[in-house]
Amino acid sequence: MSKLIAYKSRGEYKGEPIYPHRHKDGTYVASPSRFEVDYVHVDTVEELEALVRSGLGTRMSSPDINQAASLITADNIEFTDSTSPPVTAKSVLPRLSEEAELDFDSITKSRKEQAFLRAHLSRGRTKAKCVLCENEYPLEFLVAAHIKRRSECSKSEKLDFDNIAALMCKAGCDDMFEKGYVFVSGGVVKNNEKRSTTPALDLLIRKIEGNIVSNWAGSSVYYKNHESQFNK
Ligand SMILES: [Zn+2]
Repeated sequence: MSKLIAYKSRGEYKGEPIYPHRHKDGTYVASPSRFEVDYVHVDTVEELEALVRSGLGTRMSSPDINQAASLITADNIEFTDSTSPPVTAKSVLPRLSEEAELDFDSITKSRKEQAFLRAHLSRGRTKAKCVLCENEYPLEFLVAAHIKRRSECSKSEKLDFDNIAALMCKAGCDDMFEKGYVFVSGGVVKNNEKRSTTPALDLLIRKIEGNIVSNWAGSSVYYKNHESQFNK
C-alpha cells in the first residue's frame, strides 16, 4: 500500500502537504466530482488508493491546517512509498465481492461492491456511455451490470471485472438486458423475438437494436452465455 499525498495549490497554505481526509463516520471519500451525490465511501486507505489509480479524486485535508477538506483530482495526487506494489481495483474487488457474497443479508456490502465497480469502470468520469444504447449519462443513471449472471460465474470469472461487467443505463438498457428482451450476438444488439413485449417496450428495443457493443472483444464469452439463457 502506498501513502497518498497532495499539496495545497493556492491560498495561505500553498505548498503544504495534505492527506486523505477521514470523515466522521470513519470512511474516506473517492469521487469524480465535488458533489456529494457522486461520493464513493470506502473503509480503508487501500481501497481509496485503488480508486485513485482508477482515476477518481479524493477529499484531502491536513491536521495542521484548519480548513475544510477539498476534493483533489487523481492527477494531482502522488503515491509515496514506491517499494510496495500498487493497490488496484483488481486487488481490492475480489475481497469486496467475497464480503458481499458471504453476507447475503448485507445490502450495504453489495451496494459498496456495486459503487466500487461502477467507479472503477467509469475511470473517474462523472458521465459515461451505456454499452448498449451508446448514450452518455451521469454516473448515477448507470449501473455496473454483470453480463453473465453473477451467481453463475466461477471464481476466476468474477475476478475478470473489466470484461464480466459493463456500464448499462437505468433508462431501460439494464433491465432489457438482464431480463433477456435483448441479447448481444456477434457484437450486435439483437431483439429477442421470443420475449413478448408491449408497444412502448418495442420502441425502446428498436432504438438499440443493431448497435455494435464496444466491449465485444473482451466480453464475447460472457455475452454468449447470456444469449444462451434467453435465445432458446
Ligand atoms: Zn442505455
